[in-house]
Amino acid sequence: MDYWNKLSFLPREDLRKIQNKKLHDFVNNHLYPFSPYYRTLFDRYNINPRRIKTVEDLKVIPFTRKEDFLPHGASPHGFMDFILQPDKALIKKYWPKDRLFKLGLLKLLKGDSYVKARLDKEYRPIFLTATTGTTHDPVSFLYTDHDINNLRISGYRLLEVFKAKSQIRAVNLFPYAPHLAFWQTVFAGLTHDNFVLSTGGGKVMGTHGNIEAIKKVNPDVLIGVPSYLYHVARSAKEMKMRMDSVQKVILGAVAVPVGFKEKLASLLKSMGAKHVRIIGTYGFTEAKCAWGECPTPIKLSSGYHTYPDKEIFEIIDPDTGEVKGEGEDGELVYTAIDSRGSCVLRYRTGDLVKGGITYRKCPYCKRTVPRISSQISRVSNIKNLMVSKIKGTLVNLNMFSEILESEKRVDEWQIEIRKKDNDPYEIDELIVYMSLADGKDHQAVKENLNSRVQAATEIIPNKIIILPHKEMLERVEMETSSKVKRISDLRPKS
Ligand SMILES: [Zn+2]
Repeated sequence: MDYWNKLSFLPREDLRKIQNKKLHDFVNNHLYPFSPYYRTLFDRYNINPRRIKTVEDLKVIPFTRKEDFLPHGASPHGFMDFILQPDKALIKKYWPKDRLFKLGLLKLLKGDSYVKARLDKEYRPIFLTATTGTTHDPVSFLYTDHDINNLRISGYRLLEVFKAKSQIRAVNLFPYAPHLAFWQTVFAGLTHDNFVLSTGGGKVMGTHGNIEAIKKVNPDVLIGVPSYLYHVARSAKEMKMRMDSVQKVILGAVAVPVGFKEKLASLLKSMGAKHVRIIGTYGFTEAKCAWGECPTPIKLSSGYHTYPDKEIFEIIDPDTGEVKGEGEDGELVYTAIDSRGSCVLRYRTGDLVKGGITYRKCPYCKRTVPRISSQISRVSNIKNLMVSKIKGTLVNLNMFSEILESEKRVDEWQIEIRKKDNDPYEIDELIVYMSLADGKDHQAVKENLNSRVQAATEIIPNKIIILPHKEMLERVEMETSSKVKRISDLRPKS
């Protein structure tokens, strides 16, 4: 694990050399020989894996898209075709002479069963996490022992980037599920030798149970999904609980606007947490790991610190596929260079990054690893879910989230889109439901929101309805669902 400390501060050219070497090795000794999907793809496009020697050479390889994980012509078995599947014949056919020689030697010295067990350990899947499937069917990504070790490594690195001391106590509120966020947190604590209580979130223990757990542990660190963590903190405040011990909050699973960080910080401050740092993370199922910001004042972000010995990121123009330069906006593309089990190359994440990737030294922690700007919006959401035509105007529903999440007086909120009088031939109506942090001056809050929503989306809500907090919690399914329901589209599906 000390390797991270060394790697973190290497000059850019050295990091690039590591990536080039690992990419070449990964493509030739693992991916091309054992991945049914990529071997077929390389052959179809006449790509010689031996010629993939540098990061720049990636350009000749076609992108992989989410759709490719579903069964279709090029991958008849869907996500199964992305799993590395070595056998005797493939190893003999594709491994270079020196690698085969080493394997032969090992067999001679330690016997057949030893070699078989070793290969098994490296390549046999033993674990999985799956996508949540908001826009597509859930897709499973498999881990071998090698990947579990990588999950430990990324967990350790995350806590190093967060500057977590060894004696910290943390409470993990991520929902218990085969999802990356929960397991990344569990493995991070185990590997970094930190006390982490994973409650399983609201569905497993209920909000009261989570609050009791926090009371017992007296944590330095709270970890979870922003909306649920806020809800727990607010409920704890109602019970007159203190949060004096909390120094850091680690948020995951969704992008967090600065306004939300401020709102959460001031809530925790009112409960005694004085100098709380709120830190964002980014990760996705296909990478089998997450990356983190380092601690900064709330209005600033370091961006996400990546692991150059484990992956290569590119930023591309989402329309033309052209690779963009340092600091330029575009879509994030991910390539694994140290993966087993399910592996992807040039995977289009569907996430648009404003400010792209920087290779400059981090001004806060001085690490030299590539950093992804924290201004990420999920293009997959925009295309499939988050852009909707309301009242004839194309509206990016993410805008509501930006505005309402960062509005200090708004506690919980939901947008409802429906047809007037529930008549499918009638016009659309947009209703904003919310509960407020205090009971004062509803009218001023409503007017302020009206003008902010109109400025951002060009439409005016038909109604803004203020509800009691409890009713609002039921509306967004805070306690009953693992995903908070912020948008409710009641219009008939066309
Ligand atoms: Zn940093």
